[in-house]
Amino acid sequence: MAADAARLAAVLALDAGSARLEVQYLLQHVLHKPRAWLLAYPEHTPDAAQLMDYQGLLQRRLQGEPMAYLLGVREFFGLNFRVTPATLIPRPETELLVEHALQRIPPQQPCRVLDLGTGSGAIALSIANARPAAEVVAVDASLAAIAVARENAQRLGLSNAVFLRSDWFGSLGEQRFDLIVSNPPYVAAGDPHLQQGDLPFEPLSALASGADGLDDIRRIISQAAAHLRPCGWLLLEHGYDQAGRVRELLLQAGFGEVYSACDLSGIERVSGACAA
Ligand code: GLN
Repeated sequence: MAADAARLAAVLALDAGSARLEVQYLLQHVLHKPRAWLLAYPEHTPDAAQLMDYQGLLQRRLQGEPMAYLLGVREFFGLNFRVTPATLIPRPETELLVEHALQRIPPQQPCRVLDLGTGSGAIALSIANARPAAEVVAVDASLAAIAVARENAQRLGLSNAVFLRSDWFGSLGEQRFDLIVSNPPYVAAGDPHLQQGDLPFEPLSALASGADGLDDIRRIISQAAAHLRPCGWLLLEHGYDQAGRVRELLLQAGFGEVYSACDLSGIERVSGACAA
């Protein structure tokens, strides 16, 4: 297994520690054992079928397939989400968006929350879990993503979130919300990052958004006010260099209390504003 980790590290340019962890996760997955078991019985030899499964996963990982798709799960905001290639893989920095959303939802008070482009449902279900009195509506243009999000709601036992297919606000009619959140696609179409790491395996429609990456953010901001209650909030995740332009778009659309917040790397990652 040490040789496998070394190969992974070399092929994917991972540090030794990450490569070792990845090998352990793949083993855990084929053995259906928790991590502690694996560490307690290092001498355990997998049977032939398990070894074949492991080798298959290792080969796919060596081709660059994301760990989250190989394992079929990713942890986000303390919950385990099923993810498939139909959904973006939840990112740690997106937890900032959830934190800011929760700051605006009083714990026991009923309120309506909309999540645009929900993917696996990570944002919507994290909010629904932390705020049982909230009613969360989550939309995605992809039916395959909606199916994954619904499965996650069921697995997590959350019944205060509903999922429907909609191209942004397209299928929402006149519905209004107290809070709208979104982690929309925001990478510029020609950005070389799209060819790196996990990104080539993720749905491009969940990542790229026109020449400057802001096409979908512009659409959301221009239509959001019509779906917010008075003093409702719009919170958006965006790219590392887009905060200034997103604040400008919010101001132009007539929003107040426009602000941005930094993620743990000190990058302005979320911007928000209040409807008039
Ligand atoms: N944060 C992601 C990345 O850097 C992009 C996700 C998105 O476009 N919403 O790859």
